[in-house]
Amino acid sequence: MRIGHSTDIHRLEKDNKLIIGGVTIPYYLGSVGHSDGDCLLHTVCESLIGALALGDLGQLFPDTSEEFRGISSSLLVKKVMSEVKRLKYKVINIDSTVFLEEPKLSSYIFEMRSNIANLLDIEINQVSVKATTSERVGIVGRKEAIMTESVVLVEKTDKQ
Ligand SMILES: [Zn+2]
Repeated sequence: MRIGHSTDIHRLEKDNKLIIGGVTIPYYLGSVGHSDGDCLLHTVCESLIGALALGDLGQLFPDTSEEFRGISSSLLVKKVMSEVKRLKYKVINIDSTVFLEEPKLSSYIFEMRSNIANLLDIEINQVSVKATTSERVGIVGRKEAIMTESVVLVEKTDKQ
């Protein structure tokens, strides 16, 4: 078994979409990013990349590359998962936290978990997504940024 971890931060600004875990959330601020700015899916990707010691998201998908401009982060997860499968690993579970001051995310959590489960080819009970605020303190608390963290456990599938 191997473990991977990742943290990501995106600036929040007007005239950007707020997409978290593949769910578009109506809000007056959105996440600024070269792809679709999906902070949660970025840590999902990068924790997997970390578990297999493959470098980081920027190495695999350079943000200077036109190919990845505005790309759906779901596609990035799919590309990473094809690498995970090529190396003969499967995901055991993933645990993520979203730090966001507003809006409340509770009604979107199930859909985020469902999206991540589909992308990682696992069941929804293997996916945890938690949401918390920063009690109005710091860049998250001042609604300047969204931050996410993910921890993932993977296991070799061909254990002879
Ligand atoms: Zn990111």
